[in-house]
Amino acid sequence: MEYEIIPSILEVRDDAQKNLDMIKDAVKSVHIDVMDGIFVDDKTFGVDEVVELNTDLRMIVHLMTVDPHHLVPEYALAGADTIIFHVETAKDPEATIKLIKKDQCRAGISLRPGTSLEKIKPFLDDLDIVLVMTVEPGRGGQEIMPDMLLRVKELRRIAPDMDIMVDGGIDENTIRAAKEMGANMFVAGSAIFGSKKEKNPVKEIEKLRSAIE
Ligand code: ZN
Repeated sequence: MEYEIIPSILEVRDDAQKNLDMIKDAVKSVHIDVMDGIFVDDKTFGVDEVVELNTDLRMIVHLMTVDPHHLVPEYALAGADTIIFHVETAKDPEATIKLIKKDQCRAGISLRPGTSLEKIKPFLDDLDIVLVMTVEPGRGGQEIMPDMLLRVKELRRIAPDMDIMVDGGIDENTIRAAKEMGANMFVAGSAIFGSKKEKNPVKEIEKLRSAIE
């Protein structure tokens, strides 16, 4: 199983390009949170901003939006490598997975902490990635919910070969537990770009990587 640290540029979105350039040699992928102001309160990263990003990193687009199905083609065209949508907002998840794959992207599904894992089980065979929200989606800098690590464990049990991504509250202290429960893709925002102290994002990525060695 390949382990991957994936920076989220949510908190540095006003300076996204500069931050992408800083981390470009340290990681393979970047996580982009698209929020529509409806599914979650905040509004971030429309497709126009994603198109503007100039990077060779694989763009993992996390659609925290209503009606994700109709957004798939435009994000595929904008250069997404992977498109992840929420099971809560998809009218026909199977059709959306098919559409993502038809557009040559990897397909992922996500679920809020309050949504039962049962909701995504019917689609596991068709998915490349499951993104387990380890906080309530909508903003960065939150603490991880321990129950959600148990969810990761359950998911790993039923989907041994799945890429399981965790998003929310991942830092030097929590990443190891997330790995031990079965996650292999770790999204980190504040831990890499946090504003509390003067940070070197590449050093922070290395710290996270050594925490799971
Ligand atoms: Zn995300």
